[in-house]
Amino acid sequence: MAIPPLVAPGPELTVEQRARYARHILLPQIGLEGQRRLANARVLVVGAGGLGSPALMYLAAAGVGTIGVVDDDVVDASNLQRQVVHGIADVGRLKTESAAETVAAINPLVTVVRHDLRLTSENALEILADYDVVLDGADNFPTRYLVNDACVFLGLPHVWGSIYRFDGQVSVWFAGVGPCYRCVFPDPPPPDAVPSCATGGVLGVLCAAIGSVQVAEAVKLIVGQGEPLVGRLLVHDSLRQTWDSLTVRANPECPVCGESPTVTSLVDYEQFCGMPGASAGTASPETAVAGTNGVDTSAGSSTQRPYRVGEVSATELAAMLAARDRGDTEFELVDVREPGEREVVSIPGARAIHLDEFRSGAAPAQLPRGIPVVVMCKSGVRSAEAAGLLAAAGHDDVSNLAGGVLAWVHDVDPSLPTY
Ligand SMILES: [Zn+2]
Repeated sequence: MAIPPLVAPGPELTVEQRARYARHILLPQIGLEGQRRLANARVLVVGAGGLGSPALMYLAAAGVGTIGVVDDDVVDASNLQRQVVHGIADVGRLKTESAAETVAAINPLVTVVRHDLRLTSENALEILADYDVVLDGADNFPTRYLVNDACVFLGLPHVWGSIYRFDGQVSVWFAGVGPCYRCVFPDPPPPDAVPSCATGGVLGVLCAAIGSVQVAEAVKLIVGQGEPLVGRLLVHDSLRQTWDSLTVRANPECPVCGESPTVTSLVDYEQFCGMPGASAGTASPETAVAGTNGVDTSAGSSTQRPYRVGEVSATELAAMLAARDRGDTEFELVDVREPGEREVVSIPGARAIHLDEFRSGAAPAQLPRGIPVVVMCKSGVRSAEAAGLLAAAGHDDVSNLAGGVLAWVHDVDPSLPTY
Protein backbone atom coordinates (compact mmCIF):
# COMPACT_ATOMS: atom_id res chain seq x y z
CA MET A 1 0.00 0.00 0.00
CA ALA A 2 1.54 3.30 -1.07
CA ILE A 3 1.13 6.25 1.27
CA PRO A 4 1.62 9.89 0.16
CA PRO A 5 4.75 11.64 1.46
CA LEU A 6 4.39 12.63 5.12
CA VAL A 7 6.55 15.70 4.82
CA ALA A 8 6.59 18.58 2.33
CA PRO A 9 9.90 19.45 0.67
CA GLY A 10 12.02 22.03 2.49
CA PRO A 11 14.09 24.77 0.81
CA GLU A 12 16.42 24.08 -2.12
CA LEU A 13 19.48 22.11 -1.05
CA THR A 14 22.80 23.87 -0.60
CA VAL A 15 25.90 22.80 -2.51
CA GLU A 16 27.16 21.13 0.66
CA GLN A 17 23.92 19.18 1.05
CA ARG A 18 23.93 18.08 -2.61
CA ALA A 19 27.42 16.73 -2.21
CA ARG A 20 26.69 14.97 1.06
CA TYR A 21 23.44 13.36 -0.07
CA ALA A 22 24.48 12.60 -3.66
CA ARG A 23 23.89 8.84 -3.31
CA HIS A 24 20.32 9.51 -2.20
CA ILE A 25 19.74 12.12 -4.89
CA LEU A 26 20.78 9.57 -7.50
CA LEU A 27 17.88 7.35 -6.45
CA PRO A 28 14.80 8.21 -8.53
CA GLN A 29 12.60 7.36 -5.52
CA ILE A 30 14.34 10.03 -3.43
CA GLY A 31 15.98 12.55 -5.73
CA LEU A 32 16.36 16.22 -4.87
CA GLU A 33 12.74 16.51 -3.83
CA GLY A 34 12.88 13.51 -1.49
CA GLN A 35 16.07 14.79 0.08
CA ARG A 36 14.37 18.15 0.66
CA ARG A 37 11.53 16.27 2.37
CA LEU A 38 14.06 14.50 4.59
CA ALA A 39 15.73 17.81 5.43
CA ASN A 40 12.34 19.21 6.39
CA ALA A 41 11.34 16.14 8.42
CA ARG A 42 11.05 15.86 12.19
CA VAL A 43 11.53 12.36 13.64
CA LEU A 44 11.29 11.53 17.33
CA VAL A 45 13.33 8.58 18.60
CA VAL A 46 12.00 7.18 21.86
CA GLY A 47 14.99 5.71 23.68
CA ALA A 48 18.69 6.24 22.94
CA GLY A 49 19.41 2.58 23.63
CA GLY A 50 19.77 -0.56 21.56
CA LEU A 51 17.32 0.31 18.80
CA GLY A 52 17.68 4.05 19.17
CA SER A 53 21.46 3.93 18.64
CA PRO A 54 21.55 2.75 15.03
CA ALA A 55 18.34 4.63 14.34
CA LEU A 56 19.77 7.96 15.49
CA MET A 57 22.99 7.47 13.54
CA TYR A 58 21.31 6.50 10.27
CA LEU A 59 18.63 9.17 10.57
CA ALA A 60 21.46 11.68 10.98
CA ALA A 61 23.43 10.29 8.07
CA ALA A 62 20.27 10.31 5.94
CA GLY A 63 19.86 14.03 6.53
CA VAL A 64 16.64 13.99 8.53
CA GLY A 65 16.56 17.67 9.45
CA THR A 66 15.31 17.47 13.02
CA ILE A 67 15.85 14.45 15.20
CA GLY A 68 14.32 14.36 18.66
CA VAL A 69 15.58 11.94 21.27
CA VAL A 70 13.80 11.03 24.50
CA ASP A 71 15.65 9.33 27.33
CA ASP A 72 16.32 9.99 30.98
CA ASP A 73 18.88 7.24 31.47
CA VAL A 74 22.66 7.44 31.73
CA VAL A 75 25.13 5.31 29.81
CA ASP A 76 26.22 2.15 31.61
CA ALA A 77 29.20 0.01 30.63
CA SER A 78 26.84 -2.90 29.98
CA ASN A 79 25.10 -0.81 27.27
CA LEU A 80 28.17 -0.60 25.05
CA GLN A 81 27.79 -4.18 23.72
CA ARG A 82 24.97 -2.90 21.48
CA GLN A 83 24.26 0.82 22.03
CA VAL A 84 26.74 2.02 19.45
CA VAL A 85 25.77 5.68 19.62
CA HIS A 86 27.67 5.77 22.94
CA GLY A 87 31.35 5.11 23.64
CA ILE A 88 33.43 4.22 26.66
CA ALA A 89 34.03 7.90 27.44
CA ASP A 90 30.26 8.38 27.72
CA VAL A 91 29.72 6.00 30.64
CA GLY A 92 27.86 7.93 33.33
CA ARG A 93 26.67 10.67 30.96
CA LEU A 94 23.08 11.25 29.95
CA LYS A 95 22.29 9.14 26.91
CA THR A 96 20.63 12.08 25.18
CA GLU A 97 23.79 14.17 25.62
CA SER A 98 26.05 11.42 24.34
CA ALA A 99 23.72 10.64 21.42
CA ALA A 100 23.43 14.31 20.44
CA GLU A 101 27.23 14.56 20.30
CA THR A 102 27.55 11.48 18.11
CA VAL A 103 24.84 12.73 15.76
CA ALA A 104 26.56 16.11 15.47
CA ALA A 105 29.85 14.37 14.68
CA ILE A 106 28.18 12.37 11.91
CA ASN A 107 26.19 15.22 10.41
CA PRO A 108 26.33 18.80 11.69
CA LEU A 109 23.65 19.75 9.17
CA VAL A 110 20.93 18.12 11.28
CA THR A 111 19.41 19.47 14.48
CA VAL A 112 19.04 17.31 17.55
CA VAL A 113 16.34 18.12 20.07
CA ARG A 114 17.08 16.55 23.43
CA HIS A 115 14.24 15.50 25.71
CA ASP A 116 16.05 14.53 28.92
CA LEU A 117 13.02 12.98 30.54
CA ARG A 118 10.78 9.99 30.80
CA LEU A 119 7.82 9.97 28.50
CA THR A 120 4.66 10.05 30.63
CA SER A 121 0.94 10.43 30.10
CA GLU A 122 1.37 14.05 31.17
CA ASN A 123 4.07 15.07 28.67
CA ALA A 124 3.76 12.63 25.74
CA LEU A 125 1.16 14.45 23.64
CA GLU A 126 2.95 17.77 23.88
CA ILE A 127 6.31 16.26 22.93
CA LEU A 128 5.09 13.97 20.14
CA ALA A 129 2.93 16.68 18.56
CA ASP A 130 6.09 18.39 17.38
CA TYR A 131 7.10 15.51 15.10
CA ASP A 132 6.08 13.93 11.80
CA VAL A 133 6.86 10.33 12.75
CA VAL A 134 7.80 8.52 15.95
CA LEU A 135 10.38 5.75 16.06
CA ASP A 136 9.82 3.64 19.15
CA GLY A 137 12.85 1.94 20.63
CA ALA A 138 11.42 1.63 24.14
CA ASP A 139 12.33 -1.31 26.30
CA ASN A 140 9.13 -1.67 28.27
CA PHE A 141 5.44 -2.22 27.71
CA PRO A 142 4.01 0.86 29.48
CA THR A 143 6.03 3.12 27.17
CA ARG A 144 5.00 1.14 24.09
CA TYR A 145 1.31 1.48 24.87
CA LEU A 146 1.79 5.13 25.81
CA VAL A 147 3.58 5.89 22.53
CA ASN A 148 0.96 3.98 20.56
CA ASP A 149 -2.00 5.73 22.09
CA ALA A 150 -0.38 9.16 21.80
CA CYS A 151 0.40 8.48 18.12
CA VAL A 152 -3.21 7.38 17.50
CA PHE A 153 -4.56 10.54 19.12
CA LEU A 154 -2.15 12.73 17.13
CA GLY A 155 -2.60 10.81 13.85
CA LEU A 156 1.11 10.02 13.67
CA PRO A 157 2.70 6.93 12.15
CA HIS A 158 4.64 4.93 14.68
CA VAL A 159 7.62 2.82 13.61
CA TRP A 160 7.95 0.17 16.28
CA GLY A 161 10.67 -2.36 16.96
CA SER A 162 11.21 -5.01 19.59
CA ILE A 163 14.14 -7.29 20.32
CA TYR A 164 14.88 -10.13 22.68
CA ARG A 165 17.78 -12.56 22.64
CA PHE A 166 18.06 -13.48 18.93
CA ASP A 167 14.56 -12.44 17.88
CA GLY A 168 13.21 -9.17 16.61
CA GLN A 169 9.93 -7.74 15.42
CA VAL A 170 9.21 -4.56 13.55
CA SER A 171 6.15 -2.88 12.09
CA VAL A 172 4.63 0.50 11.28
CA TRP A 173 1.46 1.25 13.23
CA PHE A 174 -0.70 3.91 11.63
CA ALA A 175 -4.30 4.17 12.81
CA GLY A 176 -6.68 5.10 10.04
CA VAL A 177 -4.36 3.60 7.42
CA GLY A 178 -3.67 0.24 9.07
CA PRO A 179 -3.64 -1.30 12.52
CA CYS A 180 -2.27 0.38 15.62
CA TYR A 181 -0.14 -1.54 18.12
CA ARG A 182 -3.19 -2.20 20.27
CA CYS A 183 -5.13 -3.68 17.35
CA VAL A 184 -2.55 -6.45 17.20
CA PHE A 185 -1.36 -6.55 20.81
CA PRO A 186 -4.49 -5.63 22.77
CA ASP A 187 -3.27 -6.90 26.10
CA PRO A 188 0.12 -6.47 27.73
CA PRO A 189 1.69 -9.69 28.97
CA PRO A 190 1.66 -10.33 32.72
CA PRO A 191 4.52 -8.23 34.12
CA ASP A 192 6.33 -11.18 35.65
CA ALA A 193 5.91 -13.36 32.58
CA VAL A 194 8.15 -11.32 30.34
CA PRO A 195 11.89 -11.41 30.73
CA SER A 196 13.71 -8.30 29.57
CA CYS A 197 17.00 -8.12 27.72
CA ALA A 198 18.52 -7.25 31.09
CA THR A 199 17.66 -10.71 32.37
CA GLY A 200 17.41 -12.72 29.17
CA GLY A 201 20.23 -11.21 27.14
CA VAL A 202 20.26 -9.94 23.59
CA LEU A 203 22.54 -10.32 20.58
CA GLY A 204 23.99 -6.82 20.25
CA VAL A 205 23.97 -6.60 16.48
CA LEU A 206 20.28 -7.54 16.42
CA CYS A 207 19.71 -3.89 17.40
CA ALA A 208 21.22 -2.83 14.08
CA ALA A 209 19.09 -5.26 12.09
CA ILE A 210 15.83 -4.05 13.62
CA GLY A 211 16.83 -0.40 14.14
CA SER A 212 17.93 -0.04 10.54
CA VAL A 213 14.61 -1.43 9.28
CA GLN A 214 12.91 1.18 11.45
CA VAL A 215 14.94 3.95 9.79
CA ALA A 216 14.23 2.58 6.33
CA GLU A 217 10.52 2.71 7.15
CA ALA A 218 10.76 6.25 8.50
CA VAL A 219 12.58 7.39 5.34
CA LYS A 220 9.99 5.68 3.10
CA LEU A 221 7.15 7.34 4.98
CA ILE A 222 8.77 10.77 4.76
CA VAL A 223 9.39 10.61 1.03
CA GLY A 224 6.25 8.59 0.25
CA GLN A 225 7.93 5.74 -1.60
CA GLY A 226 7.70 1.98 -1.58
CA GLU A 227 5.43 -0.16 0.53
CA PRO A 228 5.65 0.76 4.18
CA LEU A 229 5.26 -1.94 6.82
CA VAL A 230 1.72 -0.79 7.55
CA GLY A 231 -0.41 -3.89 8.13
CA ARG A 232 2.62 -6.14 8.15
CA LEU A 233 4.57 -7.47 11.10
CA LEU A 234 8.13 -8.52 10.28
CA VAL A 235 9.42 -11.31 12.49
CA HIS A 236 13.18 -11.83 12.44
CA ASP A 237 15.11 -14.82 13.80
CA SER A 238 18.82 -14.06 13.66
CA LEU A 239 19.82 -17.63 14.59
CA ARG A 240 18.05 -19.04 11.55
CA GLN A 241 18.60 -15.76 9.73
CA THR A 242 15.02 -15.59 8.59
CA TRP A 243 12.60 -12.69 8.10
CA ASP A 244 8.92 -13.51 7.95
CA SER A 245 6.16 -11.09 7.10
CA LEU A 246 2.82 -11.59 8.83
CA THR A 247 -0.28 -9.75 7.72
CA VAL A 248 -1.94 -7.86 10.55
CA ARG A 249 -5.16 -5.90 10.32
CA ALA A 250 -6.89 -3.09 12.10
CA ASN A 251 -9.40 -4.27 14.68
CA PRO A 252 -12.73 -2.42 14.41
CA GLU A 253 -13.15 -3.13 18.13
CA CYS A 254 -9.75 -1.67 19.06
CA PRO A 255 -10.20 0.34 22.26
CA VAL A 256 -8.10 3.21 20.87
CA CYS A 257 -8.54 3.34 17.09
CA GLY A 258 -11.68 1.23 16.63
CA GLU A 259 -15.19 2.30 15.72
CA SER A 260 -16.27 2.89 19.32
CA PRO A 261 -13.09 3.70 21.21
CA THR A 262 -13.17 3.33 24.98
CA VAL A 263 -9.74 4.87 25.52
CA THR A 264 -9.98 8.51 24.46
CA SER A 265 -7.17 10.05 26.47
CA LEU A 266 -3.83 8.85 27.79
CA VAL A 267 -4.20 6.60 30.83
CA ASP A 268 -1.94 5.20 33.54
CA TYR A 269 0.12 2.77 31.47
CA GLU A 270 1.90 1.16 34.38
CA GLN A 271 -1.42 0.27 35.88
CA PHE A 272 -2.63 -0.93 32.46
CA CYS A 273 0.44 -3.16 32.25
CA GLY A 274 -0.17 -4.46 35.76
CA MET A 275 2.82 -2.86 37.35
CA PRO A 276 1.55 -0.19 39.73
CA GLY A 277 4.39 1.55 41.46
CA ALA A 278 6.90 0.41 38.88
CA SER A 279 9.32 2.95 37.51
CA ALA A 280 7.75 5.25 35.01
CA GLY A 281 7.84 4.58 31.30
CA THR A 282 11.51 4.75 30.76
CA ALA A 283 12.48 5.25 27.22
CA SER A 284 15.73 3.56 26.91
CA PRO A 285 17.86 0.76 25.72
CA GLU A 286 17.03 -2.67 24.62
CA THR A 287 13.47 -3.72 24.14
CA ALA A 288 11.89 -6.44 26.16
CA VAL A 289 10.51 -9.57 24.58
CA ALA A 290 7.72 -8.99 22.15
CA GLY A 291 4.61 -10.07 23.93
CA THR A 292 2.41 -11.37 21.22
CA ASN A 293 -0.18 -12.72 23.57
CA GLY A 294 -3.68 -11.98 22.52
CA VAL A 295 -2.88 -10.95 18.99
CA ASP A 296 -6.10 -9.64 17.69
CA THR A 297 -6.56 -9.44 13.97
CA SER A 298 -9.28 -10.12 11.53
CA ALA A 299 -9.68 -13.68 10.47
CA GLY A 300 -8.42 -13.24 6.97
CA SER A 301 -11.82 -14.28 5.66
CA SER A 302 -13.88 -12.18 3.33
CA THR A 303 -15.97 -11.00 6.26
CA GLN A 304 -12.86 -9.69 8.03
CA ARG A 305 -14.45 -10.15 11.40
CA PRO A 306 -12.20 -9.21 14.28
CA TYR A 307 -10.75 -12.16 16.06
CA ARG A 308 -9.51 -12.47 19.60
CA VAL A 309 -7.47 -15.41 20.80
CA GLY A 310 -9.67 -17.54 23.00
CA GLU A 311 -8.87 -19.35 26.19
CA VAL A 312 -9.84 -22.82 27.33
CA SER A 313 -9.47 -24.27 30.81
CA ALA A 314 -7.91 -27.66 31.46
CA THR A 315 -11.28 -29.20 32.27
CA GLU A 316 -12.80 -27.75 29.09
CA LEU A 317 -9.90 -29.20 27.14
CA ALA A 318 -10.46 -32.60 28.75
CA ALA A 319 -14.08 -32.51 27.59
CA MET A 320 -12.99 -31.43 24.10
CA LEU A 321 -10.49 -34.28 23.88
CA ALA A 322 -13.11 -36.79 25.00
CA ALA A 323 -15.46 -35.46 22.32
CA ARG A 324 -12.68 -35.69 19.74
CA ASP A 325 -12.03 -39.32 20.75
CA ARG A 326 -15.71 -40.04 20.16
CA GLY A 327 -15.50 -38.42 16.74
CA ASP A 328 -17.91 -35.66 17.76
CA THR A 329 -15.51 -32.80 17.13
CA GLU A 330 -12.29 -31.97 15.41
CA PHE A 331 -9.48 -29.73 16.60
CA GLU A 332 -5.72 -29.68 16.89
CA LEU A 333 -3.96 -29.59 20.25
CA VAL A 334 -0.43 -28.23 19.83
CA ASP A 335 2.33 -28.39 22.44
CA VAL A 336 4.91 -25.62 21.88
CA ARG A 337 7.37 -26.72 24.61
CA GLU A 338 10.90 -28.11 24.48
CA PRO A 339 11.28 -31.88 23.80
CA GLY A 340 12.62 -32.48 27.32
CA GLU A 341 9.58 -30.85 28.87
CA ARG A 342 7.25 -33.05 26.87
CA GLU A 343 9.12 -36.11 28.10
CA VAL A 344 8.44 -35.11 31.70
CA VAL A 345 4.72 -34.68 31.20
CA SER A 346 2.42 -34.35 28.21
CA ILE A 347 -1.26 -34.17 27.46
CA PRO A 348 -2.36 -37.24 25.47
CA GLY A 349 -3.30 -36.34 21.92
CA ALA A 350 -1.13 -33.24 21.69
CA ARG A 351 1.18 -32.80 18.73
CA ALA A 352 4.49 -31.02 19.10
CA ILE A 353 5.28 -27.85 17.17
CA HIS A 354 7.98 -25.82 18.90
CA LEU A 355 7.43 -22.15 19.68
CA ASP A 356 10.30 -21.30 17.33
CA GLU A 357 8.22 -22.65 14.44
CA PHE A 358 5.58 -20.07 15.27
CA ARG A 359 8.15 -17.32 15.57
CA SER A 360 9.69 -18.21 12.24
CA GLY A 361 6.29 -18.32 10.57
CA ALA A 362 6.62 -22.00 9.68
CA ALA A 363 3.93 -23.29 12.04
CA PRO A 364 0.75 -21.93 10.40
CA ALA A 365 1.33 -23.95 7.24
CA GLN A 366 1.60 -27.13 9.33
CA LEU A 367 -1.87 -26.65 10.74
CA PRO A 368 -5.01 -27.22 8.67
CA ARG A 369 -7.19 -24.18 8.07
CA GLY A 370 -10.78 -24.27 9.24
CA ILE A 371 -10.07 -26.53 12.21
CA PRO A 372 -9.85 -25.03 15.70
CA VAL A 373 -6.40 -25.02 17.26
CA VAL A 374 -5.63 -25.12 20.97
CA VAL A 375 -2.03 -24.36 21.94
CA MET A 376 -0.38 -25.23 25.23
CA CYS A 377 2.91 -24.97 27.08
CA LYS A 378 3.93 -25.29 30.73
CA SER A 379 2.03 -22.34 32.20
CA GLY A 380 0.34 -20.63 29.24
CA VAL A 381 2.80 -17.80 28.50
CA ARG A 382 4.72 -19.26 25.58
CA SER A 383 1.55 -20.73 24.09
CA ALA A 384 -0.11 -17.32 24.32
CA GLU A 385 2.66 -15.97 22.09
CA ALA A 386 2.21 -18.90 19.71
CA ALA A 387 -1.57 -18.40 19.67
CA GLY A 388 -1.13 -14.74 18.88
CA LEU A 389 1.23 -15.45 15.99
CA LEU A 390 -1.12 -18.09 14.64
CA ALA A 391 -4.06 -15.69 14.76
CA ALA A 392 -1.95 -13.00 13.13
CA ALA A 393 -1.20 -15.45 10.33
CA GLY A 394 -4.92 -15.78 9.66
CA HIS A 395 -6.03 -18.84 11.65
CA ASP A 396 -9.45 -17.79 12.82
CA ASP A 397 -10.12 -20.18 15.71
CA VAL A 398 -7.18 -20.23 18.07
CA SER A 399 -7.31 -20.81 21.81
CA ASN A 400 -4.73 -20.94 24.54
CA LEU A 401 -4.79 -23.51 27.35
CA ALA A 402 -4.99 -21.38 30.48
CA GLY A 403 -2.38 -22.42 33.01
CA GLY A 404 -0.75 -24.86 30.60
CA VAL A 405 0.11 -28.44 31.43
CA LEU A 406 0.43 -27.47 35.09
CA ALA A 407 -3.30 -26.69 35.14
CA TRP A 408 -3.96 -29.99 33.38
CA VAL A 409 -2.11 -31.92 36.09
CA HIS A 410 -3.80 -29.92 38.84
CA ASP A 411 -7.34 -30.05 37.49
CA VAL A 412 -7.53 -33.15 35.29
CA ASP A 413 -4.90 -35.74 36.13
CA PRO A 414 -3.05 -35.20 39.41
CA SER A 415 -1.30 -38.55 38.96
CA LEU A 416 0.99 -36.96 36.38
CA PRO A 417 4.36 -35.44 37.35
CA THR A 418 5.06 -31.72 37.27
CA TYR A 419 8.30 -29.79 36.88
ZN1 LIG B 1 -5.99 0.04 17.08
